[in-house]
Amino acid sequence: MENSFEKIVSFTKRRGFVFQSSDIYGGLGGFYDFGPLGVELKRNIKDSWWNAMTRKRDDIVGLDSSIVMNPNIWKASGHTENFSDPLSECKACHKRFRTDHLDDKTKCPECGGELTEARNFNLMFRTFIGPVEDSASIAYLRPETAQGIFVNYKNIVDTQRVKLPFGIAQIGKAFRNEITPGNFIFRLREFEQMEMEYFVKPGTENEVFKQIVEERMNWYVNDLGIKKENLRIRYHEKEELAHYAIGCVDIEYNFPMGWSEIEGIASRGNYDLTQHQKCSGQDLTYYEEATKERFIPYVIEPSSGVERVFLACLCDAYTEIEGGRTTTTESVKETEFLLKLNKKIAPIKVAVLPLVKNKENITAKAREVYNLLKGCFNCQYDEVGAIGRRYRRHDEIGTPYAITIDFETLEDSAVTVRYRDTMEQKRIKIDDLISILKKEIYED
Ligand code: ATP
Repeated sequence: MENSFEKIVSFTKRRGFVFQSSDIYGGLGGFYDFGPLGVELKRNIKDSWWNAMTRKRDDIVGLDSSIVMNPNIWKASGHTENFSDPLSECKACHKRFRTDHLDDKTKCPECGGELTEARNFNLMFRTFIGPVEDSASIAYLRPETAQGIFVNYKNIVDTQRVKLPFGIAQIGKAFRNEITPGNFIFRLREFEQMEMEYFVKPGTENEVFKQIVEERMNWYVNDLGIKKENLRIRYHEKEELAHYAIGCVDIEYNFPMGWSEIEGIASRGNYDLTQHQKCSGQDLTYYEEATKERFIPYVIEPSSGVERVFLACLCDAYTEIEGGRTTTTESVKETEFLLKLNKKIAPIKVAVLPLVKNKENITAKAREVYNLLKGCFNCQYDEVGAIGRRYRRHDEIGTPYAITIDFETLEDSAVTVRYRDTMEQKRIKIDDLISILKKEIYED
């Protein structure tokens, strides 16, 4: 069944994944907050990326650079001049639109009024450093994390004994004053990026580019569990390329509103380092000992937005089962809502459920199991409502395991483990729980 966007948006609010920012004040366009479940999912996505990009790699190091940087960086990178979208305003209702998103560029899509000629609108948020608000104190909130990496390239080469090819990865906030934010958390004004700059010897960039595209696709499928058929690669046309890029592909997800970009992978040549060398006066060349050559490396950049990946994971996992499911142990006769998230990124891994409430021995045993597991997994203890209701509640937020402690547990030191997607139930010894769950979640 097709998932409508509205259903997913209302689900994320109802179950505490995403709230509009400043909610009790009526919200703020293009800004969102992540609730208790959302922050866990987001963190799991970022951890997964960080592990794949740095900890499992010998050739990539991490970085956390500041959001506000010397404004000369944005002049050098071309953002002050070029980081803009075309904007048209309606002469009648004064609404503003991104001209390149309009079919008819002369008529207002809302009221039919006449639109102004398009003008370039710079997307960087401006601020002032210090107490005086004059042109000398202007600074910008970074519109991408990449420049923080380029301006630390020399620090890293000088301190880390890295050798080409090597990468620098960063996760952090980025800000863009989008003309028309929208599609929920797809186009935001404040978001997080996961970016890696991979520096290579000129001449090797095409081979590395292909390899990175393949690795990135594999991450979505194998590490996040997104269905292969909902992902595709789109090659940019020459005229579409950003001012720095010599080649670019988008990884797109099949959202309910259509195929849209979740990650861009760009072959940036040596544009950024060359510009920073010119504007900073610092030597950013690389000396290759083996060949005694000195050159500015080329760079390949995979860049994705945490919120877009988060939304793709939710859309992919959201499932409605009309009429419910029936197995030998359970029968649900109403529409079921199921979040079939990959176990590795599920916000809560295990729900610990005492079969009955306020039965001293059962409660104590259930607490004991909960305390044992919570050192290893994000768990939730839940004793409110009938057991079936509790299963449903956890199915809906994507908890892969529900563990029930019953009277037999007191005799045999085993619990019933119930699986979200199949509703299968298995009896497992408490002593074996951690090793079995660890294996199933992280290795299978
Ligand atoms: P778009 O064409 O959708 O505006 P872009 O091509 O400008 O995106 P990039 O500059 O390539 O985007 O940024 C890399 C990634 O950062 C994107 O693939 C996306 O996941 C994320 N991103 C960019 N802009 C936004 C935004 N306004 N809100 C949320 N995520 C964004």
